[in-house]
Amino acid sequence: MTKERLQKYLARAGVASRRQGEELIRAGRVSVDGRIVTTLGQLIDSEKAEVMVDGRKVLPPPHCRTIVLNKPYGCVTTMADPQGRRKVIDLLPDQEERLYPVGRLDYDATGLLLLTNDGELAHRLMHPRYKVAKTYRATVAGQFSPAARRRLREGITLDGRLTIPEQVRLVKTSSERSVLELTIREGRYHLVKRLCAAVGCPVLKLKRIAYGPLRLGRLALGTWRELTQEEVRRLK
Ligand code: URA
Repeated sequence: MTKERLQKYLARAGVASRRQGEELIRAGRVSVDGRIVTTLGQLIDSEKAEVMVDGRKVLPPPHCRTIVLNKPYGCVTTMADPQGRRKVIDLLPDQEERLYPVGRLDYDATGLLLLTNDGELAHRLMHPRYKVAKTYRATVAGQFSPAARRRLREGITLDGRLTIPEQVRLVKTSSERSVLELTIREGRYHLVKRLCAAVGCPVLKLKRIAYGPLRLGRLALGTWRELTQEEVRRLK
């Protein structure tokens, strides 16, 4: 038996946000197995309970799955592509539950991409309010000078707003190319590429190595694995 709070069940089923679910419950509009529930925090058996809102049956929420993929080069993270390019979703076996990429990674970028059918988790990870940290390893052209580092640490104005990476770590540098690790808490278009270009170091290769507390680790390029419950819990 899987016990779950009623308002969480309603949110997973796509009926309402958790807050709205609480209001529905308080207003006496929700019943479980034929009995109206008005107290918050009620635990239900999410596999068997018959939940109704305003007398209408709520379809049980889908079984939640979240996977991590090491995205290869040359595929898009969108669900459809007008140019007919390869999609990350095609790298997964056909499955009953459709998994959706959490955010975007550029066509020519590699690395950690989460895919899930857990709407709440996707919202938590993508909404700007939660400022989830994402770490990228960028191979850039040329020497990454102390001045370039200082400029990045002071912030670059992009789209009319000062953007300061949370962390900039120089892994190695030579006159030809340098490797940096950058942590950002935003998901704006081409953000890492634009930050690096702004300090005179265009990105040659980009790989996402961490998303919140989750690290890519040794997952081979183009392969994926299911997250453990503990990993999902830490992301939430
Ligand atoms: N920054 C970029 O420039 N590209 C990505 O795919 C992600 C972050």
